[in-house]
Amino acid sequence: QAKEQGRAIYQFYLPQMNERAVARLKIETQLRGALARREFVLHYQPKASLTSGEITGFEALLRWQHPAHGLVPPLKFISVLEDTGLIVSVGEWVVRTVCDQLNKWQSQGLVLHPVSVNLSARQFQQQDLDSVIGKTLEMTAIDPHFLEFELTESVLMKEAEAAANALQNLKAFGVKISMDDFGTGYSSLAYLKRFPLDTLKIDRAFIRDVTTDLDDAAIAVAMIKLAHSLGLKVVAEGVETRAQLDFLIENGCDEMQGYYFSQPLPLERASQALIQGYRLPMGIQTMND
Ligand code: C2E
Ligand code: MG
Ligand code: MG
Ligand code: MG
Repeated sequence: QAKEQGRAIYQFYLPQMNERAVARLKIETQLRGALARREFVLHYQPKASLTSGEITGFEALLRWQHPAHGLVPPLKFISVLEDTGLIVSVGEWVVRTVCDQLNKWQSQGLVLHPVSVNLSARQFQQQDLDSVIGKTLEMTAIDPHFLEFELTESVLMKEAEAAANALQNLKAFGVKISMDDFGTGYSSLAYLKRFPLDTLKIDRAFIRDVTTDLDDAAIAVAMIKLAHSLGLKVVAEGVETRAQLDFLIENGCDEMQGYYFSQPLPLERASQALIQGYRLPMGIQTMND
């Protein structure tokens, strides 16, 4: 009977796992083609100052412009890029595209703001991550202060040695480093000391209920104080409501990013936001505003 059961399970799982493996292989092949066919695009989500309301920078976010399925979000393909190592070439394309875009904005006479690029753990396994980035900086001749890299705690945990070296070299170029999704990983305060960070981004998990959940409010306030006492800038992620915004202003958070201000924008609309001087409405809103 056990044998029969075993066979039943075997028969039940095998076709499913095959299907999944085949589906993944299919995505991998498509992703390789996507890079060659230039189907990847970047959207730019603005961040705003919580003191002036002005745009302070953008986060570059990867999308796949699929000929049949339309715009595919990173959730659907980033893990495949990471597992296959394709994230290395795609990541190089992202940095190059952001540097080129900074040059274009500058030649259009627009005021430049830093653009941040996300880095996966897998990219730190590559020996020459920092020198590839250094070459891109040289080739595009952008001011390195306008380039920022965002990495999560899991990167620092998985690739501690490689990350420490690469980050020191990146910092020496003059780029900025930001700790992304802070508080969701294996948060170790030692990371904040050990790695040369400029910015701490509070994960949106703590922002969501910040005005209704006393624990989240306490954690958010503590993170803002922690960042400031370490000399770091602090950015709140996932701000969707006026109430969340007011809480963050009141508690001295430096910057915000989230749908309340803007979704990630296709390039044309990000440029428009710059041209029009798009800004966050500040102060308490009244009926007369
Ligand atoms: P992330 O770096 O934490 O990026 C922020 C994510 O939150 C983005 O999702 C953004 O669209 C979303 N978001 C922003 N404001 C709000 C809000 O108010 N509410 C909600 N619910 N969500 C908000 P997206 O673009 O789908 O990216 C997901 C993740 O994919 C990123 O998380 C990042 O980890 C990864 N990713 C995106 N682009 C790249 C890339 O070029 N390279 C690498 N390695 N990873 C990337
Ligand atoms: Mg990010
Ligand atoms: Mg984040
Ligand atoms: Mg994230």
